[in-house]
Amino acid sequence: MKKQKALLIIKPDGVQRGLIGKIITRFESVGLKIIGLKFEMATSDKVIAHYPETEAWFKKVGERTLTNYAKKGLDAKIVFKTDDAVSIGKIVKGWLVTYFQESPVFMAVVEGYDCIEIVRKLSGNTIPVQALPGTVRGDFSHDTIDLANEQNRPLRNIIHASDAPEDGEKEVNLWFTKEELFSYELAGEKFMYK
Ligand code: GDP
Repeated sequence: MKKQKALLIIKPDGVQRGLIGKIITRFESVGLKIIGLKFEMATSDKVIAHYPETEAWFKKVGERTLTNYAKKGLDAKIVFKTDDAVSIGKIVKGWLVTYFQESPVFMAVVEGYDCIEIVRKLSGNTIPVQALPGTVRGDFSHDTIDLANEQNRPLRNIIHASDAPEDGEKEVNLWFTKEELFSYELAGEKFMYK
């Protein structure tokens, strides 16, 4: 079995609210190994490269809005001037580029077996009102899709956590150099992982 790496980003709202320590502690406490940590002022290019520039990703994001609007009887055309999922996803990506540059972001690379599943579990649902208590998003945010869209901004949901093993590798390589990642053994690691 292979260890996975995941990138965590405490987004500008998490940094501005002084939540860095509280959030990182949660990932450290479950036994994930922190192998890199840093602050960075993101550039547009980095944010554009970070979120996939694929039809599938745009569609997933746009459909999140459309599903939510269908439940609430709202019309996507009022905010987006379209109800095409891919076009909506592209608009949200533009908002993400602005949002990520509001203040520095704080990043951690964590490593462990089934690390991706664990970081997603601890982060909680993308939509804060649907994120369960006990998760980072459930405990520290309460944003809704319709409010975020109406204000032409992304959901302010505190954290980014890699969503698939290949995304973890790609994102870690985008934001961290080899020299910024460290190799060491956690106390009790061999018992924890075997
Ligand atoms: P994540 O992996 O849980 O962060 O979710 P995604 O990769 O699908 O989306 C990236 C980020 O875009 C989310 O964390 C939100 O901040 C934002 N976002 C996603 N979907 C929507 C949406 O429908 N409307 C708005 N306003 N923001 C969204």
